[in-house]
Amino acid sequence: MSAVVFDDRGLVVAVAQDAHTGEVRMVAWMNREALQRTLETGVATFFSRSRQALWRKGEESGNVLRVVRVGVDCDGDTVLLLVEPAGPSCHTGRPSCFFRAPRADGEIDASPAELAPSLVLLERDIAEKASSTAELSYTRSLLDGGAHKIGAKLREEADELARALEGESDERVLSEAADLLYHAAVGLRSRGLSLAGVARALFARRGTSGHDEKRARAPR
Ligand SMILES: [Zn+2]
Repeated sequence: MSAVVFDDRGLVVAVAQDAHTGEVRMVAWMNREALQRTLETGVATFFSRSRQALWRKGEESGNVLRVVRVGVDCDGDTVLLLVEPAGPSCHTGRPSCFFRAPRADGEIDASPAELAPSLVLLERDIAEKASSTAELSYTRSLLDGGAHKIGAKLREEADELARALEGESDERVLSEAADLLYHAAVGLRSRGLSLAGVARALFARRGTSGHDEKRARAPR
């Protein structure tokens, strides 16, 4: 583990990032033992500076971080954990610790806004609209219509994307692909599934060639 540079307190900063969505979930400290335990168990373990003790993330809440890969940056003073979170990662109950934005005047922006990648935000917006009791949104009307209505829109959007690919501008292609992704995300939501699940499925396929993968799934 000589590639990791611990500071004069014996600590190194560790960033936990969702392996499948790219969302940064939290940052904490590790000492040599915490890193070793994380590598051996595949579950993120940190070092608490206030308690001067090791703590396994989620040991009380159950919101553990299963570690998919561990990396270290170019000069060895920051560890990156690619994780699969079992639940919210922040003690506030939010998915990520990063939901506050500093302002130039030194204050904190009053309205919390998650600093998550676009696809994560898309999914959270859909979830919010699905449970909102406010005016009926397009998303809600799709979800209320169920698999049949969502499926019809998906076919329509897929066709529009196909046509754009054949002869329309890049801007149109991107816009149609965005429509298709949005409707796919609503379809996933209707089944209680997520884009992270899709990314996990893609991740599991890595190393298998596309042709092999298709053949393995094809009915005989
Ligand atoms: Zn937090």
